[in-house]
Amino acid sequence: MTEPLALYVHWPFCVSKCPYCDFNSHVRESVDQAVWRAALLADLRHEAALLPGRQVSSIFFGGGTPSLMPPATVAAVIGEAAALWGLTDDCEITLEANPNSVEVAAFADLAAAGVNRVSIGVQSFDPQVLEFLGRAH
Ligand code: SF4
Repeated sequence: MTEPLALYVHWPFCVSKCPYCDFNSHVRESVDQAVWRAALLADLRHEAALLPGRQVSSIFFGGGTPSLMPPATVAAVIGEAAALWGLTDDCEITLEANPNSVEVAAFADLAAAGVNRVSIGVQSFDPQVLEFLGRAH
């Protein structure tokens, strides 16, 4: 039996840049969603050609703030991975999110897209600490 794959998908955009952040994350007034979606799918096809005959047992959408991704793009990435490799029955599909209301509003659509686990970036529930950290939520 061939070892299953774990996919990591990076979304490098955030609503604001936290002062302590070393991640590959950027603030942009607009993102060309069609270009990014096409590039993510093209990258998956490239990787599938290098790693054929494997199933995917987990997909992790990280960032940046991947909960800002259009749910249709998340669904397209999951669908492309399923078409290229196939997903295991218990495939874990995680998406990182910040506890901002705009992102929470998209949770139902992200679940419908196939996400079955969220990793929520709660650094603190204390408003003074959040202000010190420069967190937007
Ligand atoms: S939300 Fe996360 S990735 Fe974005 S700037 Fe803050 S720490 Fe960095």
